[in-house]
Amino acid sequence: MKQLKGIGASTGIAIGKIFMYTPKQLPVNAEEKDSLPFSEKKEILERVINAAEKEIDALYKNTRKNAEKEAEIFQAHILFLKDPTIIKKIDELLKQNFTLPAAVKKAFEESVAIMEKMENPYFKARAKDLRDVEERLLRKISGIETQSLSSIPYPAIIVAKDLTPSDTASLDRKNVLGFVTETGGITSHTAILAEALGIPAVVGVRNILSEAKNGMLAILDGSTGDIILEPDETTLARYRQKKEQYEREKKELEKVKFLSVSTKSGKTIEVSANIGKTDDINIAINSGADGIGLFRTEFLFLDREIPPSEEEQFNAYKKVLEAFGSKPVIIRTLDIGGDKQIPYLGLEKELNPFLGVRAIRLCLKNKGLFKTQLRAILRASIYGNVKIMYPMIAIKDEIIEANNLLKTVKKELTEEGVAYKKDFEVGIMVEIPSAALNADELIKYVDFFSIGTNDLIQYTFAADRTNRNVSYLYNPLHPSILKLIEMTIKASHKHNKWTGMCGEMAGDPKAIPILLKMGIDELSMSPSKIPNAKKLIMETE
Ligand code: PEP
Ligand code: MG
Repeated sequence: MKQLKGIGASTGIAIGKIFMYTPKQLPVNAEEKDSLPFSEKKEILERVINAAEKEIDALYKNTRKNAEKEAEIFQAHILFLKDPTIIKKIDELLKQNFTLPAAVKKAFEESVAIMEKMENPYFKARAKDLRDVEERLLRKISGIETQSLSSIPYPAIIVAKDLTPSDTASLDRKNVLGFVTETGGITSHTAILAEALGIPAVVGVRNILSEAKNGMLAILDGSTGDIILEPDETTLARYRQKKEQYEREKKELEKVKFLSVSTKSGKTIEVSANIGKTDDINIAINSGADGIGLFRTEFLFLDREIPPSEEEQFNAYKKVLEAFGSKPVIIRTLDIGGDKQIPYLGLEKELNPFLGVRAIRLCLKNKGLFKTQLRAILRASIYGNVKIMYPMIAIKDEIIEANNLLKTVKKELTEEGVAYKKDFEVGIMVEIPSAALNADELIKYVDFFSIGTNDLIQYTFAADRTNRNVSYLYNPLHPSILKLIEMTIKASHKHNKWTGMCGEMAGDPKAIPILLKMGIDELSMSPSKIPNAKKLIMETE
């Protein structure tokens, strides 16, 4: 018996035999030349591009049946396949008498190298897609089909170095018990696709390729990232039991996750999702979210060189609002600063960024940036049930200033004849102790509160939320935190308004019954925590 550890990428337990997926790379000599005329090679190139396009299109249609969002990657593959820069490069190389495989390899490698050098993880990931397209073309040119996952000989746990989107899309699903890969992180294609298909997966398992063998019995635990090779009888029995329990619980949760839930005493609680990108929309919907309780819009600003334009932001907000229809979507205005630094804004370096010009403070100092965002949200507001929320409010003057700016933006849009929703709720995050302590006053200026416990705890205990050495202070259930929460809820109810929570505490099973007792009205959390939270709410008085 041998135990290896990776990153749990898709929950669930698989027990079964291993199938090693190790497709051989086609041997291509990138320096090889021949004397075939250009026109002949160009004709073959066009033929294989057409054939590859048909193949990719079939993969697109097949994947779309189960995972619509994930299928989009194949549309990108078709664009790569026809990329004019790459084709021009291939043509040039063919004219220099390189063989067709050599020209394809050289041309693609050049683009792959450029993408791999980029800092942005998105482009780094696209380099892998380019390689996928390159491999497909080379296979078509050589006529050699390598090992494929379209027919797996027995129900198996697939072990591979990494899986490309094409590998996973042509998958013989009925025989796949789980995935294990040696490389790849939580955002790799394998991880995303496995999650969408509901197949347990562990990624980033060092040495799995040298330790595992075809037909070897293995256990995969997608929640913990554990891989056990050749388990003994006791371990096997333990995991069989764990698997049964997991599946029983999953079935139970499946039954409740799409319900609108109420406590036993009859209070309906909205259970919403926290998201950071439009890519998360489907995950939130599939997890049973009653809406979006926190859209962290700063993610639209990270990992890039310039801020997103008004148009780009408008499109992102519209997409989320349309996806949720009449269900509420709380768009939080920019929370940049603290641990989310954005180099291109050229902000002053601070000794204590968590206590510096962050979130609403930064927006009120950079009104141009803030106005662009408010314009984009207002323009998108007609597509759904929007609510706006300001982060890091410490004092009422900040709300007044932000609301004045919102009024100005509305006036400007009216003058320009641009449509926007006239009436929607505006709220604040309560995540600084001063806001909770003065909630009674602040509520007069807003329609709702949402408690951000991640920061509220950090600022209450003066304990950096990212510093492990002070994590012993980071206790959501400490009386000082519970008192601040209770004060906030009471203040809102006194004025017939409502309080939600969007910090991590909202999804914590130990905290939920306490929060319900205090009268919380809404909970917003990571999508994966929604089903269990709904079940707990239904079981609580
Ligand atoms: C919070 O502080 O609890 C919160 C939800 O905001 P963020 O984690 O984005 O700071
Ligand atoms: Mg916060």
